[in-house]
Amino acid sequence: MGIQFIDLKAQRKRLKSQIDAGIQAVMEHGAFIMGPEVREFEKQLAEFGQAKHALGCANGTDALVLSLMALGVGEGDAVFCPSFTYCASAEGIANVGATPVFVDVCADTYNMDVESLKQAIIDINETAGLSPKAIMAVDIFGQAADYRLLSQVAQAEGLKLIADSAQGFGSTIDGNHPLNWADITTTSFFPAKPLGCYGDGGAVLTNDDQICETVDSLRIHGKGEHKYDNVRIGMNSRLDTMQAAILLPKLSVFADEIEKRNAVAQKYHNALHNQVERVPTVLEGGISTWAQYTIEVSDWLRLATQLKEKGIPTARYYPNPVHGQSAYKHFPVVSSGLPQTEACLDKIISLPMHPYLEEDVQNQIIEAVIEAVN
Ligand SMILES: *Cc1c(COP(=O)(O)O)cnc(C)c1O
Repeated sequence: MGIQFIDLKAQRKRLKSQIDAGIQAVMEHGAFIMGPEVREFEKQLAEFGQAKHALGCANGTDALVLSLMALGVGEGDAVFCPSFTYCASAEGIANVGATPVFVDVCADTYNMDVESLKQAIIDINETAGLSPKAIMAVDIFGQAADYRLLSQVAQAEGLKLIADSAQGFGSTIDGNHPLNWADITTTSFFPAKPLGCYGDGGAVLTNDDQICETVDSLRIHGKGEHKYDNVRIGMNSRLDTMQAAILLPKLSVFADEIEKRNAVAQKYHNALHNQVERVPTVLEGGISTWAQYTIEVSDWLRLATQLKEKGIPTARYYPNPVHGQSAYKHFPVVSSGLPQTEACLDKIISLPMHPYLEEDVQNQIIEAVIEAVN
């Protein structure tokens, strides 16, 4: 088999017996919905993420919707988010009836730019019919946004702060997870994410008892104390017991996998920082989960083509940011525009990245990149 962009089979080899035993156990006990593995996984996930509570749900997009609902975000509310993200960030906001307001990102980290955010808040304060309600930062490519700065703005402006950590769950700044600053962290267990399951899954993490209780109710049809007295309009959004059983062994090696990903990233950095226009910048004190290793080159198509000829896959995230997509074009963009979001579009390209990338394979990739850019 050729070189994989994300090699899920290598991880499967490592965890096969544990995962298969976990699946078997669920099939035998039969508690497919909210079974014991879900509770156990939630407990361990909360511990890993330095959170008081973790609640599984059906996917990372629902995790955002449940969070926004629990915070009471709805019609007439503006939620600030980057355009340089997967569409689901803005989709969650629009799905609760609120308005996503697109903010620019920093040139070096691709994460939300705090000056652009401040301008967007001024803009919305001057817009009739909309009031600022929340900030949705995205931990793009695996790196935590600069929550130290974002939380200061959230506090000063009385806004809620959500960390969309679908790509960056496990990332830290000075040893702290995003939840140290955010009201809620969400994540996704889509198979290709750093912590992925064998299907769809997601989670909401919070330190707030009230938010936890509300999300727990919302994910099970707005359940109340009694099974047949639902107290709010909710959703059907649970993490399958089977997926929790798959995630338990995966979580047990996740810290080790993050270390391995960082070793791969370091090797790319050492070999490429003098060769390409830009290699990823990590915040001082920050640890990324490296969902993607994204570089910038002057001619991405040439690089992609030459690598493909050598059997090396690449990918591009995100050539068409959300504000340019058909369903999202009518939503507001910060008045200062999105210069950094747009500046990188013709340059970005992501290289194979996963914890099990072997040294000789990575050497081949590095050599091919250097050849293509010179
Ligand atoms: C993958 C992703 C999501 C959505 O997760 P799903 O589990 O696919 O619904 C949300 N936000 C970001 C930034 C993502 O990368």
